[in-house]
Amino acid sequence: MTRYYILFGPPGAGKGTQAQAMVERYNLHHISTGALLRKEIAAGSELGLKAKELIEKGNLVPDEVVEGMIENEFRTVKGVDGFLLDGFPRTIEQAKALDNLLAKTGESVTATVSIMIPDEMIVERIQGRALKEGRADDADINVINNRIATYHRQTEPLIDFYRSCGKYTEVDGTGSIDEVREGIFKVMD
Ligand code: AMP
Repeated sequence: MTRYYILFGPPGAGKGTQAQAMVERYNLHHISTGALLRKEIAAGSELGLKAKELIEKGNLVPDEVVEGMIENEFRTVKGVDGFLLDGFPRTIEQAKALDNLLAKTGESVTATVSIMIPDEMIVERIQGRALKEGRADDADINVINNRIATYHRQTEPLIDFYRSCGKYTEVDGTGSIDEVREGIFKVMD
């Protein structure tokens, strides 16, 4: 049976970094909605143009846009044991849409793994990443602060959503990359 894992956590928690180790160890396909949107922006597509403005302000793109991307990946990617969703769902509406999509084939979310760090560390990590990756939304403190506020307002409620169905696990994200990876492997195993 295909497994569906959600890699959860605030921006800058290290989801992208840890996803790479997780997909190798568990033979999963990594789906980062942020990376897919950045690809659209780079390609200059119509969707990319619309998404660019929202992303550069630190706001979320519409639910239907990312839901369509997820559906497309599920449909087209074969030969893996499961999927690792990174940066999706980010709203309760997206979480419900995911449940409905999986229910069509009698499937459901396997588990969420949440990497947790405090707000002060979010800013520090994102500013460090800005120097390496050159993301526009990492370069401006006002945008970073809006992303943190957006996370608390729209995404954090998902913790209770998944906790209430017994699918929430949390890992301390404040340690080194190796330490956090070991923590994740422990809960996944
Ligand atoms: P990320 O790479 O996950 O930090 O995402 C970068 C930006 O892409 C976010 O700040 C949002 O503007 C947008 N984005 C990524 N995933 C989603 C999502 N699931 N729903 C809405 N917007 C998203």
